[in-house]
Amino acid sequence: MHLNDILFDRKHIWHPYSSITNPLKNYPIISANGFKLTLNNGRKIIDGMSSWWAAIHGYNHPVLNNALIKQIKLMSHVMFGGITHYPAIKLCKNIIKLVPKKLECIFLADSGSVAIEVAIKMVLQYWQLHKNPRKKFLSFYKGYHGDTFGAMSICDPYNSMHKFYHNFLPKNYFINSLTRGFHEKWKNGDDKDIIFMIEKYNKKIAAVIIEPIVQSAGGMIFYHASYLKTLRELCNYYNIILIFDEIATGFGRTGKLFACNHANISPDIMCIGKALTGGMVTLSATLSSRHIAETISNGPTKCFMHGPTFMGNPLACSAANASLFLLKKENWNLKVSFINKILFSGLISLNKHKRVKNVRVLGAIGVVETFNFINIEKIQKWFVNYGVWIRPFRKLIYLMPPYIINKKSLFILINAISESLDYPEHFLN
Ligand SMILES: *Cc1c(COP(=O)(O)O)cnc(C)c1O
Repeated sequence: MHLNDILFDRKHIWHPYSSITNPLKNYPIISANGFKLTLNNGRKIIDGMSSWWAAIHGYNHPVLNNALIKQIKLMSHVMFGGITHYPAIKLCKNIIKLVPKKLECIFLADSGSVAIEVAIKMVLQYWQLHKNPRKKFLSFYKGYHGDTFGAMSICDPYNSMHKFYHNFLPKNYFINSLTRGFHEKWKNGDDKDIIFMIEKYNKKIAAVIIEPIVQSAGGMIFYHASYLKTLRELCNYYNIILIFDEIATGFGRTGKLFACNHANISPDIMCIGKALTGGMVTLSATLSSRHIAETISNGPTKCFMHGPTFMGNPLACSAANASLFLLKKENWNLKVSFINKILFSGLISLNKHKRVKNVRVLGAIGVVETFNFINIEKIQKWFVNYGVWIRPFRKLIYLMPPYIINKKSLFILINAISESLDYPEHFLN
């Protein structure tokens, strides 16, 4: 890569949540292997992000690579309309075995946001068959479900980047975020807001949607599993569909295979994505109960009205099959609990730091929440010089490394965060 390429990138290419006129610096990466990314100048830095929850097995994994190479020689893609293929069938069998029993029917989609759109459309089509179709979704402040329009309409309306589109979005209901922490003691009445909202609006609420246990991009909040139990009971009682967005939490990251396993309950619809292919290619899925799938199929349209061009892409399915194989073979639960112990022992003392509001650890996620907003550009540069890839946002510096990371490198990530807190220029006032 030449300087010209970097200048071209700055001038012409959008990056996530970026500006064309005044973009933050983007670091050229030329390859990635294991838990390290290689910069343009050949330096290797330790990855603390798993490329946004996705690369759980690390990069350039031979099992994942070979699965794709093998599949590419058979077929990279073939349409899913009127055609089926083994990689998709194998994947859906695999997934249905892993998720709660009730989730039997599966829709393969392109990305997390699309899986959410599919879930929303399923709910709306489901209710069309009823006399007084319900149309409202109930979701949570600090929730995040993706960037497309349906997804935005259920993201936190004020605290998120989606406030700019507020007037274009359907109006849904929101409940205050969940303040009782995952590790705290549950108190009577902690769920009174949820009970109040659902009792008040139950005739209008078509579905409740929530990220189980971890509110991710909305603030890296780890909340108590009892909220989910309350939701399940209320949704049963009032005949409301319960949707879990496991796009970030799925595949072991929180210490259970799926976050809903912490509460031992099943949603009626579940979305997965991100780590589904081990970070190789984009793929997501929306699972539902047979009851929902059959109701939709018996509805006015007689079928479910969604079908992306690249639905069930064989390459993506093969990557996902290989990733699920690795997950099991490599004992993800031992790896995640190993990371958990180190994150806990290394980060928790930062609670005493004057710039730190709160430290929290769950599964293979470690979060340091600061009092002040972070100067992303400055701290990022410092991290890269230190030899680590950590990408904070707002007041959050967090780690979610690939499961294959070793102890030494994990400590380097932790020390990087710890030392970064001592520089006033890393924070805004
Ligand atoms: C990332 C994410 C999404 C959106 O997925 P994309 O693949 O980025 O469209 C939705 N919900 C949650 C909880 C996520 O973390």
